[in-house]
Amino acid sequence: MTSALSLDGVFLVPPEHHVPDTDRAAATQLLGCDDRTLDTLVRRGLTVRDDRFDGRDLFNLALHSGTGRTVPEQAFAFSLRWMRGTAESLLAPRTLSFTLTAACRCADVVLALPRPDRYGGAVIPAPEADVVAGTTVSATIRTEGRAVPLRSPVLRGLVEEFAALGVRWVKLPDALREDESLVTTHRVATCESASRWLARRCREAGYAARTRIGWVVGMLDLVHAWVEVTDDDGETKVVDLIFAGFAAGVPGANPLLTDPAVALRTNRLVPTGFEVGARVARHDCDAPVTVRIKPVKE
Ligand SMILES: [Zn+2]
Repeated sequence: MTSALSLDGVFLVPPEHHVPDTDRAAATQLLGCDDRTLDTLVRRGLTVRDDRFDGRDLFNLALHSGTGRTVPEQAFAFSLRWMRGTAESLLAPRTLSFTLTAACRCADVVLALPRPDRYGGAVIPAPEADVVAGTTVSATIRTEGRAVPLRSPVLRGLVEEFAALGVRWVKLPDALREDESLVTTHRVATCESASRWLARRCREAGYAARTRIGWVVGMLDLVHAWVEVTDDDGETKVVDLIFAGFAAGVPGANPLLTDPAVALRTNRLVPTGFEVGARVARHDCDAPVTVRIKPVKE
């Protein structure tokens, strides 16, 4: 592990997808470094155009800097502190208010509904479909976790194989977010591409598997993705490579999160009815889509 800003192992947004959206002042702030360090990074290859940087390059560089001082590292450490919780806190039933909003005036907005009823939970009012028309979805949801053995040695081997690759979770342009080839060629992944990689490997090994997209309570607007695979005992299990990877970087994380012999579906996981490739909001503009999932006192 390095303890300084370094481009070693950093996947830079390719030139054709580069968006120069961040100036020097914002860059040094995001990286927690001075101008001299930024100049050194540029000399070593950090992409700059008209003295501006791609915010995703800076975010990825900062998140994986190992300094512990950058804004992305601190934001992640804060967002993931629940990983230190007890098994009970990861699995116990929860009641939450859910709101998904597309901040736009498009005529035909379609939003994905939360479907924790697929995972032993409930949605109130009960959904009749996986989507609903309109710019806002509000529901009360109940989630519950489950931790069961991942029995198949083949499936456990795939989980271990991914962990051994040392893949970094990164922000990528939309055009690359689902590109599973980057997992092996550059050892970088999004939740989507890692899930696609695993689902494909499971299917190649003869196991029924699919990806699933949804949200994670406490992770703001991050749309997450994971895999559902039918194990040797006939039960469909959740395997979440990216959260296992995050947990590996959280000191004191509950070992259920990183054990390749455990299929863990936490009570924070809120599935949709969709797999990777679908969008949680279908509309014609690029207005932001926000999700708010908050505990409800009972
Ligand atoms: Zn819109």
